[in-house]
Amino acid sequence: MPAKLDVVVIGGGQAGLATAYFLRRAGLDYLVLDNQSAPGGAWQHTWDSLHLFSPSQWSSLPGWQMPVTHDTYPSRNEVIDYLARYEERYHIPVRRPVHVKSVSRVQGGLLVSTDRGEWIARAVVSATGTWSAPYVPDYPGREIFSGRQMHSAQYRNPDDLRGQNVLVVGGGNSGAQILAEISTVCDATWVTPQEPVFLPDDVDGRVLFERATARWQALRDRHTTTAPVGGLGDIVMVASVREARARGVLHAMHPFSHFDADGVVWSDGTHSRVDVVIWCTGFRPALKHLDPLQICDANGLPRTDGTHARDEGRLWLVGYGEWCGAASATLIGVMRGAREAAHGIAQYLRPIQPSNASAS
Ligand code: FAD
Repeated sequence: MPAKLDVVVIGGGQAGLATAYFLRRAGLDYLVLDNQSAPGGAWQHTWDSLHLFSPSQWSSLPGWQMPVTHDTYPSRNEVIDYLARYEERYHIPVRRPVHVKSVSRVQGGLLVSTDRGEWIARAVVSATGTWSAPYVPDYPGREIFSGRQMHSAQYRNPDDLRGQNVLVVGGGNSGAQILAEISTVCDATWVTPQEPVFLPDDVDGRVLFERATARWQALRDRHTTTAPVGGLGDIVMVASVREARARGVLHAMHPFSHFDADGVVWSDGTHSRVDVVIWCTGFRPALKHLDPLQICDANGLPRTDGTHARDEGRLWLVGYGEWCGAASATLIGVMRGAREAAHGIAQYLRPIQPSNASAS
């Protein structure tokens, strides 16, 4: 018989841990299921040299500020260490590795089916992130290109790219940081759909978070003020990107027209030989496990009111990005959505009994 409990949180990355922090404070009976064999979520799989674009005090989960780190911007290893210690600090019950295959409706709640058994939960939080759902756009001829292709999710370091012709496709922080790194060892060409947007040198994640908060407040208060521009996709001038600018490599090309077997053909008909393509083209939310609930629209997104799924009242979604909370896919930004989801679940599971009117 599946074990029964109040809440199952699917995903033990920063979003799952932040939600667990608030569920614990609400005194709810919950369990986190995570398919990794160690703590740290997607941070375990980023490239070796990745650093945050915000200082540690602007990259903290609820309750415990990330310890000041060696550099201004924490390394991915320092983030992983912080998340692992956060789990211990708050005694968060994480069962891993457990892969959730599906969430479906049953009598008495939602059935969470996994490769290690089943649970019936009265409420479910999906916090599975995006890393396991890399997005690669369809380019004509991609299937006949004989060179190597990888997504930024698979990129670790430039060691095996030395001396090759590499195309970096994508104009966000991943594209800029990977171009900056590999251009020191190979002939790198940057392709972006539009002109890349570089933030001023003194703007980092702090300002982006403040702008996302202003947008969130503007939307919440339905003010017509034009929310400040500058989203998380704009390029933060971290040290490696500034250094690449000084080397003159931050020049982006408009998209090529198609692949052929050994390279790409540009819109003017010229050809470039390419050995490797690195797709820095972002991610989609990893929501396959929710398919049985049939709540996602044609774009693969569920309708939500904040973090609460509109078409399944026992489901909350945390940490996927703007559609479930401004800056919710960042360490500092996930707190709002995590707190909102835990509060909503507590209210759903223990509706506040209207105080009985005193007998007249
Ligand atoms: P994840 O970290 O992906 O955690 C989700 C967990 O759920 C993972 O362990 C995953 O394996 C697991 N999971 C997925 N599906 C299942 C399933 N079916 N069953 C069980 N477990 C499952 N944010 C910042 O705040 N500052 C930055 O500087 C920053 N830089 C970034 C740089 C890059 C290149 C990228 C890609 C993102 C960056 N982010 C940054 C954004 C964000 O912090 C990360 O994406 C973060 O990993 C999101 O955390 P999460 O918990 O939502 O997802």
